[in-house]
Amino acid sequence: MSQPHVLIVGAGPAGLFAAERLSAAGVRVTVAERMPSPARKFLMAGRGGLNLTHSEPPDAFRPRYAEAAPRVAGWLDRLPPADLIAWAEGLGQPVFTGSSGRVFPRAMKASPLLRAWLARLADRGVTLNGRWSWTGLEGRTATFDTPGGPRGETPDALLLAMGGASWPRLGADGGWRPLLEARSVAVAPFRPANAGVDVAWSPVFADRFAGQPLKGVALSHGGRTVRGEAMVARYGLEGGAVYALTADLRRALDRDGTTTLTVDLRPDLSIEALAARIARGKGKDSVSNQLRKAAGLSPVAVGLLREIPGDIPAGPDKLARRIKAVRLTLTGLQGLDRAISSAGGVGLDQVDDGLMLTALPGVFVAGEMLDWEAPTGGYLLQACFASGAVAADGVLAWLARDKGTA
Ligand SMILES: Cc1cc2nc3c(=O)[nH]c(=O)nc-3n(C[C@H](O)[C@H](O)[C@H](O)COP(=O)(O)OP(=O)(O)OC[C@H]3O[C@@H](n4cnc5c(N)ncnc54)[C@H](O)[C@@H]3O)c2cc1C
Repeated sequence: MSQPHVLIVGAGPAGLFAAERLSAAGVRVTVAERMPSPARKFLMAGRGGLNLTHSEPPDAFRPRYAEAAPRVAGWLDRLPPADLIAWAEGLGQPVFTGSSGRVFPRAMKASPLLRAWLARLADRGVTLNGRWSWTGLEGRTATFDTPGGPRGETPDALLLAMGGASWPRLGADGGWRPLLEARSVAVAPFRPANAGVDVAWSPVFADRFAGQPLKGVALSHGGRTVRGEAMVARYGLEGGAVYALTADLRRALDRDGTTTLTVDLRPDLSIEALAARIARGKGKDSVSNQLRKAAGLSPVAVGLLREIPGDIPAGPDKLARRIKAVRLTLTGLQGLDRAISSAGGVGLDQVDDGLMLTALPGVFVAGEMLDWEAPTGGYLLQACFASGAVAADGVLAWLARDKGTA
């Protein structure tokens, strides 16, 4: 029996992980990638240290995927965080767990891991074709624009891992959406996930504080509170604590046009404890000095308090209440261009448990192409790798059935 051939489109973490699993099983694998070199978004993620996964237990980890959690849980069973860590270490990249529970390679970048990984794939005979851009399906033939002109390939199975639609200049631009819709696959529109929010700062505040972090704050919206860091940007706020609320904020902004985000600048202190500190600190000090010394606020936090219309309240109790509930009006969400990831994509009801499209037997989908979202914290890469593993196993089961050996 001849060696089966699987064509993978997209050389990001999901596609390359599937390539590794399939080649280990003795399948001939070709990876087609539209960019001249592979895994550009993965390398970009490495600039932030490459947060591979998170160390929290499954009952905390799984709900990060919100509505998609029941499906993603099955992927995580196939490739749990511990297995992903073992894989990275097997490629010579030991990891460490940061104080937030996030897991990073000690090298804090993606390039050494990617180099070792690509070498392993090459050793296994995986062919990587750069500048091959998928243009659709003609029957069972996948068509491409290549440097040598248009070309068709008819593999035994096709695995699509073309990513979502954020940071399009890195390769994944969601251009595949109409191509799949034309083949009766339902694809939810792309929306920014893990994106900054717009706040109409005064020019003075934006000039002085853009680029400065609000550390150890708690952000609340719609009954959910997230503690962490938010970064002031010229356009508004960004950073992990904001991203953790993006899905809820996006829904509220879509519905109402604006929404309120409440910032607690001293979440570690009760109103009473904070008011007592402020009362003790009162004296000849100016309000700014009181805020800095007694309330322990950073200059950017004091600046934020001053951004709220109206005077800063004078009494310790009122001041403490204000510090613990700065209400910001959000006017929008930053676009896909700079969002860390995208929501939307191929509906999870369009694929079976092996991630094969029910409308297109023999065609599989993995990674951010699928319609799920999660906050930053390692949850994105973990789900991309895990879905790559699940789709590869789905392909193997399909090939076995195809040959009547299942
Ligand atoms: C700045 C930044 C930092 C990030 N940091 C982290 C982090 O620390 N931790 C984390 O978990 N996640 C992080 N992410 C998110 C993470 O990188 C993505 O979720 C992940 O790369 C998605 O993997 P993927 O394989 O599904 O798609 P991608 O990595 O987007 O790969 C898809 C590939 O398909 C190719 N492609 C697209 N269309 C075609 C076509 N028509 N023909 C051929 N090829 C095509 C693209 O060029 C691309 O190479 C970060 C993202 C960004 C933008």
